[in-house]
Parts: sequence; structure tokens; C-alpha cells
Amino acid sequence: MEFSFGFIQTSGHKCSASWIRLLFFCSMLSTWTSVQGWSYFHSSTFMTWEEARTWCRDHYTDMVAIQNQEEIEHLKSWLNFTTGYYWIGIRKLNDTWTWVGTNKALTPEATNWAKGEPNNGKARGSSGNSEDCVEMYIKRDKEEGKWNDESCLKKKTALCYSAACKSDSCQYGECVETINSHECACNPGFYGDKCDQVVTCNKDEVRAPDNGKVTCTHKYGDFAFDSSCQYSCKEGFQLSMAGPQRCTATGSWSEQPPTCQLVQCPTLTRPSRGSMKCNDPLGSSSYRSTCAFACNEGYVLDGSPSNTLQCESSGSWNASQPSCVAVQCPAIQDLGNGIVSCEGDADERFSYGKTCSFSCAPGYKLVGPNRVSCTSAAEWSEKTPHCEAITCKTPEGGAHLFTDCSEPLSKLLINSTCSFTCEPGFELQGVQTVKCSDDGRWSEDIPSCKAVRCLVLEDPESGSVNCSNAEPLFNTQCTFTCGEDSILKGDKIRTCDHHGNWTGDQPTCEAVSPSATVVASSVAAGGAAVTSGLALALWLLKRLRKKASKFELDSNSNIDTPTAVYKSSIDSLI
Ligand code: CA
Repeated sequence: MEFSFGFIQTSGHKCSASWIRLLFFCSMLSTWTSVQGWSYFHSSTFMTWEEARTWCRDHYTDMVAIQNQEEIEHLKSWLNFTTGYYWIGIRKLNDTWTWVGTNKALTPEATNWAKGEPNNGKARGSSGNSEDCVEMYIKRDKEEGKWNDESCLKKKTALCYSAACKSDSCQYGECVETINSHECACNPGFYGDKCDQVVTCNKDEVRAPDNGKVTCTHKYGDFAFDSSCQYSCKEGFQLSMAGPQRCTATGSWSEQPPTCQLVQCPTLTRPSRGSMKCNDPLGSSSYRSTCAFACNEGYVLDGSPSNTLQCESSGSWNASQPSCVAVQCPAIQDLGNGIVSCEGDADERFSYGKTCSFSCAPGYKLVGPNRVSCTSAAEWSEKTPHCEAITCKTPEGGAHLFTDCSEPLSKLLINSTCSFTCEPGFELQGVQTVKCSDDGRWSEDIPSCKAVRCLVLEDPESGSVNCSNAEPLFNTQCTFTCGEDSILKGDKIRTCDHHGNWTGDQPTCEAVSPSATVVASSVAAGGAAVTSGLALALWLLKRLRKKASKFELDSNSNIDTPTAVYKSSIDSLI
């Protein structure tokens, strides 16, 4: 190795070579940047790749990591006074060519392989080692600065560098090594050579909104990059944006200041068959608005626990909107032996305003109204009716009347009948049978019983009749008697039977023989007309006196005004 000079002993210098050329080079590089640049160093002895790495890290930063053509050109110009083979910081790790300083895989753009390289083994010597390390050719007629993969155990010159970046080189940025220098790549929101200046945003663009407030937090400085302003609103107001307002890296705010908007609730509607009255202290259908609901007569609120709804700060009403439904009257049960007919669908037939009509089956009559309506008080307009079987009242039998009905009248359907008979000695006045009509009345008047009466018996000629009863009624017994000069022929006793007929036949009184001779002889003599005429007059008078005494017994009437019956008897006699 012919190229060797006091380089190593002056480690720590930026460009410490004593050669005029290098001094010039260093002064030239110093014009690139105002900060301390990086430096290159090489060993004066040969060593394996591992020994070279250790040596570089012990004395400098690391092995050279060639990252672009510009760096290669620089090294060529710096080392072009001697021919040599230099280890650089590339090695095959896990079958991948890797920058050992960064542990990053080599990109195709950064490679600078000599022709035919890497060939790994074609130039393998007797050692049989694979070529997993990289050397760079310096000062050659051809392929100067190119790379060759080589056995790591071979001994070559170590090529090192000393980094320019320090821990505090860049405050808010990344230090990037450059040839003989470094640069700060500032993080967003920062600027300056050391990235120690922070971008600021306009403080005036942070304003507390009406009905709200704002609170800011500052990470790098007042209203500077990454400052965050959180807005909030009073209860019942809503921010126009969700997130905070942030100062961005470009010095502008991420958002315009938000506003606080009055919370709105969904618009309510007037219920059908009802009314709604709203009070809006802040705005229509807004926070603190209240709406009261009422229903028309016959309807009640349904579907909400309250008749007044309030718009809450969440933008929702505190309860669901009610509706008005018709009040319900009690369900009407089926009418026994009748029909209930209600208007409307099944679910509203017992609702307010609906009417139900009633009718009974034949043989039954409605007791109560024939129609009822459901009132707003949820009650029917009248007590609901019922069907009652049509019955005829038990006939009120008169005296001596026997009644015989076909069924107990309490169950008596239409066409049930009652038959009538009278006690013996009485006869029926009216129909014998009545039938129950469909109006609950008997088909005919109920009959009555009248006492049986026989004809008045006449005294027999020359005799008399005496009866057990003043009236010739049933069971009256009449006894006939004759005068002294006559004897009774026929039934001595006649009885009035239950048909109104006298038993037996009317008897006669027949004169005994002497009396009959006197009358007959007088008539035969002719000359004794006066005697005979006198006798007839006496007999007639006697008859009239008997009749008169009999009449007085019955009626105490004057003899000149007898009753029709008796008068007719007298008339018939005269
Ligand atoms: Ca090779």
C-alpha cells in the first residue's frame, strides 16, 4: 500500500490532509454548507472486512456507505493518487446486499457493480469462501470506483467516514448526511437551519362564537403549529363542526371558527282530530320549545306519556308525539236471542260516535232501547237492552172458573193455549179456549162463569109448588102439592140440574070423584046456570089469591105490578 499519510493520526479533523490538493478540496466543500461536514478516512494496513468494520467504528463513525454517484465521484477524486482495493460497508445478509450502517437493503439505483459482478464464486480461490463482502476499485485503468463482491476473509484497505450529524444538529427535523456536510430536513411546521423555528397561525382567527367558548392548547408555542383550539357551546346549542381547530404546518388554521347553532328538534304535526299549541322561546321547534296536545271531544291522547312535549338539548323531543284516538265504550256482549248490529270496522265498532242497534228473534221482545250510541264519556247513551221471551199473563180466572193451560206460562211461548171450564151449576160465558198471540196478549177475552138458571115452575092446577131457593138456580128443589080435592099425578119433586133443566115432568092435580060429579051434573041440568056460574067465579078468585100470596113472598110488590115472568103467567091464565 503505497498511499499512506498522516490521515489516521489526525482523526477528528474535518479535512486534515496536509496535501494542498486536499486542503483545496476541503475549502471547496466548506462553501456547500455552513455546518460541519462529514469526512473520509482509510487505513494504512490491510485487514479482513470484519476487521475493517471494527476499525472504522472504533475510530470513526462506520464504513463508508456509498449512496449515490456523486459520492463515488468524490471518493475517486480524493483517492485517485493510489491504486487500491477498499472495503466498503456493503455485505450480503440473508442473501440480500445490505448497507450495514443502516441495515437497509441496497436499492438498484445505488448499485455500482463492475462488469460481470457480483459473480460470487467464479473467481473463488482454493479457500472456497463465498464472496459476501464488497470492495471498491480505486485508481484503475478501467472500472474505477466500481464494486466487486469478494471473500470477506481477504485483506484490503478499510475505507471509513466520520458523520457530521450530531444529536442536536436539527431540533425538529432529520439530519441528513451529505458529502462533507449535512443538512436538516425539517419536520412539517418547522423551519430554519436547525429546524428550531415553528410556523404560527393567525391568532385573530380564533374567536369564541356566540353562545359558546373556545379553549386552546399549545404544544410548540402560542397559536403555533399543532396548537389545538377546542370549541364548545352552551346547552341547547350545537357546534357547526365536530373536531378542533388546528394550526397546520402551512400556518393556516384547519377550519374556520365554528358557530354555535340553536339545537333543532324535528317538526311536530297537529294530530288528526286534535290540536297542538307550541311555545318557542328561542326558535321554532328548537331547544326549550314546548308543544301541548289536546284532542277533540270523544278522543283521547295516545302513544305518549305526556300531553306536553319539550325539545331537549339533544335535539330530540322528550317523548314521542301523541295521537288522538276515539274513546272506547265497553264492548257490547252478544244479545241472547237477538242480534247486535254495530256500524264501523271491528276495531272501532265500540268507539266514540258509533251506534249499535238491537233486534230480537221471533218470540222475543226487546226490553230497553233499540239503539245506543257511544258517548264521549266512554259510556253508552243508554243501558243496553235484552231480549225477553214473549209470554201471556196467566188469565185471572173469575169466580167458579177453572183454567187449564198447556204449559207453565212462565215459559209459555207463542201459541200456548188455555182452556176454561166452570164449576158445576155454572156455564161459560165466552170462548172455551184462548191462544197466546205474538204480542203477548190472549187471542180472546177471558170467559166468565154464570150460574145455571132453570125456568120458573108454575103451580099445577089445583095445586102449588114450593122451591128450596128463591131463584130457580142449579140444585134448586121444588115440591108440588095439590088441594084437598085433588091428588098429584107425576113428579112430586123437580130439581134444577146443571144444564138448567128441571128433572122430571111438570105434575098435575087431578080432582077426586065427588067434586067432579057436582060440576058435571050442574052443567047437565041446564037450569042451574046461576049455581054453576057462581061456582066458577069462586074458583077463579081462589086461584088469583094463591098467585098473589106467592108473588108477595118473592118481591113484596103490589099485586097490580108483577114482574114480567109472573105477569106472563097471569096473562096466560086469563
Ligand atoms: Ca467478484
